[in-house]
Amino acid sequence: MPISVTCSSCGNEVSPPSQHCPHCGQSVGYWNVIAADEPDERAALDRRYQSARVDALARKSDKVLQEFENALAGSKAVITRYQSEVLRLATSTRQLYGPYYQMIQAGLRLPDGDEWDVLRQLADTLLFPDYKEEIRFGALSLDGGGLPNYGDCSIVLRDVMIADRASVFEENSALFVERHHIKISRKPNMPKGHRATWPERAKLCIAKLHAKIDAATTPDKYSRILLTPGATSEDDEFVEVHIFGPMTVLTMERVIVISPKASKRATITRAIKSKLAKHGVKVN
Ligand SMILES: [Zn+2]
Repeated sequence: MPISVTCSSCGNEVSPPSQHCPHCGQSVGYWNVIAADEPDERAALDRRYQSARVDALARKSDKVLQEFENALAGSKAVITRYQSEVLRLATSTRQLYGPYYQMIQAGLRLPDGDEWDVLRQLADTLLFPDYKEEIRFGALSLDGGGLPNYGDCSIVLRDVMIADRASVFEENSALFVERHHIKISRKPNMPKGHRATWPERAKLCIAKLHAKIDAATTPDKYSRILLTPGATSEDDEFVEVHIFGPMTVLTMERVIVISPKASKRATITRAIKSKLAKHGVKVN
């Protein structure tokens, strides 16, 4: 079902991809957040969340589940990229993080050209009708670690820079569309309750992950329960983060370099460190 919002200023309906009311110019917000905030989506998520809590109570793991939820409220969005890309971004606040579709449209890159291509495009069209070009993808993380299948640098984003424009999704959205056999039709049968706004991200994580928590689960296990890198990107397990709009080095909080061992890499890491330091971004 196509989404629309009522303009708070002139009262007319606004549809994607307009970020401003085409009638009066008022800002209408971010479409991924608007979609996650729809009453049907929120009600379906709440049902999953309540049932997770009932299950935890029955298994006497409710206290630990609550602790896990408290920790998740502080989870961060991370994007994994190669050092060369981080170096480019660190060079200047005028360098933008390039989302996939915009890079292709600008002629700066070619589509991946693999079996993911069609699936990814279908999933993005279903999830982000008319605005997929605006979405940047990340993962939720408790320890700042990301998904090494996408690069050797984990970029942790500043909450304050993304909280209003980020939403979270159950898992790799392309795989979700495949696993749930979402049909191409005028009314795609996309199940509700699998996305959430940024302030409600812990709720989605509890709905998804509650069965992995029992009374004996210790806090040091939380990170891996939330995000488990796999041998390939298909095996990665994570909660996907969707961020609407541009990002620069000033959107970053810190960068974790996963494998700086080889000497060439160490040189790049030093360059990244000194450039990032100028923008107040830490490197681990
Ligand atoms: Zn208006």
